[in-house]
Formats: sequence, C-alpha cells, structure tokens
Amino acid sequence: MDSLEKIVSLCKRRGFIFPGSDVYGGFAGTWDFGPLGTTLKKNLMDAWWKFFVDDRDNIYGIDAAILMNPKTWEASGHTSTFADPLVECKECKSRFRADKIANNITESVTTEEFLDTHTKCPVCGKESWGPIRKFNMMFTTHVGAVLPDDNDELSQKSIAYLRPETAQGIFTNYKNVVDTIYPNLPFGLAQQGKAFRNEISPRDFILRDRECSQMEIEYFVAPDTWEDNFEIMRKAQHEFLEKIAGLNPSSIHEYEVPPEDRAHYSKRTIDFMFDYPNGEEELMGLAYRTDFDLSNIQKASGKSMEYRDKITKEAFIPHVIEPSIGVERLFLAVLSTAYHEDEVNGEKRIVLKLPEHLAPYKYCVSPLLKNKPELVEKAKTVYNLLRKKYGNITWDDSGNIGKRYRKQDEIGTPKCVVIDFETLENNTVTIRDRDTTEQIRKDIANL
Ligand SMILES: [Zn+2]
Repeated sequence: MDSLEKIVSLCKRRGFIFPGSDVYGGFAGTWDFGPLGTTLKKNLMDAWWKFFVDDRDNIYGIDAAILMNPKTWEASGHTSTFADPLVECKECKSRFRADKIANNITESVTTEEFLDTHTKCPVCGKESWGPIRKFNMMFTTHVGAVLPDDNDELSQKSIAYLRPETAQGIFTNYKNVVDTIYPNLPFGLAQQGKAFRNEISPRDFILRDRECSQMEIEYFVAPDTWEDNFEIMRKAQHEFLEKIAGLNPSSIHEYEVPPEDRAHYSKRTIDFMFDYPNGEEELMGLAYRTDFDLSNIQKASGKSMEYRDKITKEAFIPHVIEPSIGVERLFLAVLSTAYHEDEVNGEKRIVLKLPEHLAPYKYCVSPLLKNKPELVEKAKTVYNLLRKKYGNITWDDSGNIGKRYRKQDEIGTPKCVVIDFETLENNTVTIRDRDTTEQIRKDIANL
C-alpha cells in the first residue's frame, strides 16, 4: 500500500471520511465526513476563521447563498471560460481531460497541439482522437416550477448554476457591505462554504472532488498598493499553514504561475504547492484579481462599484488580492503531515500526530477495568470534569489498555487518562502521551 492508500484506509476505518453514498456503491467525486472527520474539519475551519477574521480588525465575514442570479456567472466569465479541454477516444468512447493525459500541455491546448503529443488512450491504448471540446464545469439546475427541456424557452430561462467558487458571493455583496459598515481600505471579506465543479475525472481521494468546501478572502485595496498587500497576504498564508495548521514549511513550495496558465481574471498568481503522499499538488492559491470582478459587476449591473476615499474624496474601483484554499486539500495536507508509523515495544503502531487544537478529541478517559464499579464510577467523575473543562473528549472502556492506546493513537488523541486502583487511594491518574508514549502520574486537580 502506498501512503495515500494508507491514509484513505485509516480515514474509513476510523470514521474520518467515507466514500459518498457508500451504501449505494458510491457516487463519483463525492466524499462524506464521518464523526471524527467532521470534528477535525470544523476545527480547521474555525482555526482559519479565528486567524483571518476574528483576530483582525479589517476582515469581516459573509455567508452568501449558493444559488445566485445567473448574471453573476456571465459577468465573472465563468459561463464562457470556466471549461476544461475534453477529448474523446473514437475507439472506446472514453472521455478525458486532455491536459491530464498528455505531458507538457496546458488547459488551453488546441486539437492540433494535442494530436502532436501522440498520446495513447489510457483505457484501450489506441491513438484515435476526436477534436478537443470545451467542457463547462459548472453544474446546472432549474429554478422554479419548470422541467429541464432544451427546446423550451421558459426552461432555458430558468437555468441556474451551483456556484463554482465562493468568491462571487463576496464580490456581489461588496457594495452592500461598503454601504452598511463603511470600512476603510484595505479591508477583506471572508467566506467559507461549498463550491461545485463537474470534474471530468475526479481522482486522488478528496483532492479533486466534485463538491468541496472553500475558504476565501477578497482583500480590497487601493490600486497602487496591491504589491505591498499581496506580500502581507502571502506572509499571512504561510503563518496560517505552518503555525496554525501545523504543516512543515519544507513541504510547502511557492509556484509563480506564468501568464499563459493564469486564470482569466488574474495579473499575478502564486500557487502554494504541497508535498502530498502521491506527489506535489496545489494546496491553495493567492491571486491578484485586479478590479476585474468589480468592474464587470459594475458593467453588468449598472451600479457603481466605486469606493470613495474618506479623506481625499477620490473615487475608484478597489483592486483585489484573493487567498483561496480548499478545506479538503488542507484536511489531507494536515492528515498526511500527522500520519506516522513507528514501533512501540516491538509492535508496529500508526499514530496521527495532530496539533492538539485540531485533534478531534483532546483526552480519552478510561477505567483500567470495566468490570470494577468503583473504577468506572471514579472514571465517570473524571470524564465529566474534563468534558466541562475541554469540551471534546472521549470515553473508552473497550478491550485492554494497550488496544485502547492503539485506537486513540490512530485518531490522534493527544492524551489518555486511566483511572486505576491507586486513583481510589490518592486521587492521581495515569496520563499517557500520544507522541512519546510516556506515562506519568498526575493529581486529578491538575489535569
Ligand atoms: Zn480508448
């Protein structure tokens, strides 16, 4: 098993992540978070929110609807350009993203360029290709009491999209926010929420799925200050990834995206790449989107997106720096950083060395023996005490102590507390450390 497979297997075995709709044989490109995964994911999202919103004076939160007026996606360019190069094998009819099966070509590859690569079909091995077609990745749906019908005008007019990014929900609310809370530039609007992309071939576990959670900030700045603010945001991303999410700085690589590969709206983009178990992959992006979005909204809506400087009275459309991170990508980066295998007393052990503030459970409490009522009762008292103090703790009285430790190591619980006969005499308990496996005795009052 390679290390990504090991993590996928741990995720399923311990209830972090299950294949979506597993009971019906799954549903491609979707994943469901189980009890432990939900807690870890929430801890990550809350830590991001605290770091970028609560702990700053000039970044505010919003929470926009997933369904938006379709004009949004025309103005943003998604209707026309949010597309992947789709190619079909004429022999076996399999469909692929051209830039994913051939080397050294980009998303803007032409049919001729693709044919020149002499790529063979990954399924049947033949080299017999149809033309490259642009495949729009937005999911469509119909809003209101109409049935989907390509030939019916009412039906066509009712088409709406599941948002492919959370960013537009921020841009479309920019004016409302400026008019209600009068923030000074620079200021940011942050949002966490679901985004949907109809990936041609979802793969690599939760790295390329069809439904994901994004955490995005649009940081509005005066046009001539974009470079300084880009640097400020860039440093803040490193601080978050390394100090809060606990990733190794040596596993994060900045990639300056060349102009021809940048998204249609960006004048500068840095991709933060991460060394995942199956190779280097994008973890997050930092993009300078200029005034592209607000200008387009101004044109499409007829409403002014100008910001009036409170002192100089000068009016202009702010420019935007956008850090954008996928929660699932961050989740997998955190898990693969935490995943370790070592040996304890000659026995192989799997341990998740998660940062304490992210771990699903802070403590596990157990009675040494579950058939001794006096131990169980005392353990319940300690459990209730710690739960009041720390919130997310767990109880385990299954199997023997060694087995319980193995299980807690695998889910990343930093400390296990065991109540034994000595506890009944002097009110001390054994605390066992996940990373060092060292055990010490401590008075209950000092936990
Ligand atoms: Zn084929």
